Amino acid sequence: MARYIGPVCRLCRRERTKLFLKGDRCNSLKCPVGGDATERRVRAYPPGEHGRDRMRQGSEYLVQLREKQKARRIYGVLERQFRKVYEEASRQPGIAGENLLRILESRLDNIVFRVGWGASRAQARQLVRHGHVLVNGRRITIPSYRVRPSDQVELTPQARELTMIRQNLDTLDRALPGWLEASPERFGVTVLGLPVRDQIDEAIKEQLIIELYSK
Ligand code: SF4
Repeated sequence: MARYIGPVCRLCRRERTKLFLKGDRCNSLKCPVGGDATERRVRAYPPGEHGRDRMRQGSEYLVQLREKQKARRIYGVLERQFRKVYEEASRQPGIAGENLLRILESRLDNIVFRVGWGASRAQARQLVRHGHVLVNGRRITIPSYRVRPSDQVELTPQARELTMIRQNLDTLDRALPGWLEASPERFGVTVLGLPVRDQIDEAIKEQLIIELYSK
């Protein structure tokens, strides 16, 4: 199963915004993107030999392309899979951009991230791959598995004892979106329904992505 395994801060620098791909570090002074970092004169410009040249405002196409890349990187989805998501979203009734985000949000690795078991989506993905997550009592190891309304997602009994997960639950203090309902100790979560746009807390201009793909 393909995934990006290169340096992730580079991706944020390329998009010139925080994509929060590294858990705790993203909120620390070590983050090379953001106000504090800029003041500390670290590399808050796009990567590569010509990084500083890329600070200019681009064409309409470039703006759309960057928005698509940003969304892809936030959710950790490679191009081929992302295009399939777009195709499915555009076939569904309703607003294609909102459908696209809804499909991405309903991925199992995203649920694990949202509930705070994983500090980043990459860590959440690893938890799923390693068999620590059950959906309706069945072990699911596919990060792109899509949850449905009334699904019960929970950690295996062994995973509940993992220091990493307990530490994440204690320290992340992540607010759960309204379409998910966690059990009191947060080792399980129920999908109340699929999210509407207002419940998706990501600064993505999905319309630009649709415009890009529909050319
Ligand atoms: Fe790196 Fe996180 Fe900062 Fe992005 S937000 S540059 S992943 S530390």
